[in-house]
Amino acid sequence: MSDATGKVALVTGGSRGIGKACVLALADQGFDIVINYASNQAAAAEVEEAVKAKGRQALAVQGDVSSSESAQHLVDEAVNRFGRLDVLVNNAGVTRDTLMIRMKDEDWDKVIETNLSGAFYTTRAAAKVMMKQRSGSIVNITSISGIYGNPGQVNYAASKAGMIGMTKASAKELASRNITVNAVAPGFITTDMTESIDTSKVLDHIPLGRIGTPEDIANAVVFLVTSGHYITGQVLQVDGGLVL
Ligand code: NAP
Repeated sequence: MSDATGKVALVTGGSRGIGKACVLALADQGFDIVINYASNQAAAAEVEEAVKAKGRQALAVQGDVSSSESAQHLVDEAVNRFGRLDVLVNNAGVTRDTLMIRMKDEDWDKVIETNLSGAFYTTRAAAKVMMKQRSGSIVNITSISGIYGNPGQVNYAASKAGMIGMTKASAKELASRNITVNAVAPGFITTDMTESIDTSKVLDHIPLGRIGTPEDIANAVVFLVTSGHYITGQVLQVDGGLVL
């Protein structure tokens, strides 16, 4: 039986891709899971069933994290159902890629509000619960784009760089309550988000010689929340060496 049995994890954007892999990997560790999604209810229901099939409890909750009310509702649902919250994975994210001079205000706003404000609203709500518990782990899914920049992604890179600043500041604020806050920065991972990108061009730049899988990211998240008790404020790049 895992140490995490009886503990509770909330994964935003847990219905697909990296979020789904995090949900399943955390369930394997013994966590009961709250699976947040924005609109794809069928995908979320499938993940909920997969968690239950592993013998853990699961609750799928619709909510747009870019609304502070929805983010608060998510955390409230977790506490109402399970009575505690041990892990938050801020994974929900979107892209609206285009060159800066063509970028519309709404492309900028949508990405900043979902990726950065969404992580802030959810962290703020979760931190109140974790501070009372005097324990917790928060993992923010950022991106190598937020560290190194990427043309066509001014909005996305800014949101992900913002998440890194938030990770470090909140790590310092919450450390005295035994709460760790870290970030995982994926490189190129096969999901719906990247399906339109030509992988052959990227592959030449990845020393480990393959595109990443959602499970590669989930493994890093599991490590941080189950074994990383003395790690906080860090950004762990999981990219096959792409930006070495
Ligand atoms: P994905 O396959 O497109 O899945 C996105 C997930 O986020 C879905 O579950 C979606 O819910 C949810 N979501 C979107 N907007 C939301 C909102 N406003 N509120 C709540 N949930 C929302 O994406 P992914 O590739 O797994 O990416 C996951 C995270 O990793 C993102 O933060 C992304 O920026 C980051 N990342 C990805 C890569 C990569 O190569 N894939 C690289 C670096 C970083 P629905 O199912 O309801 O739509």
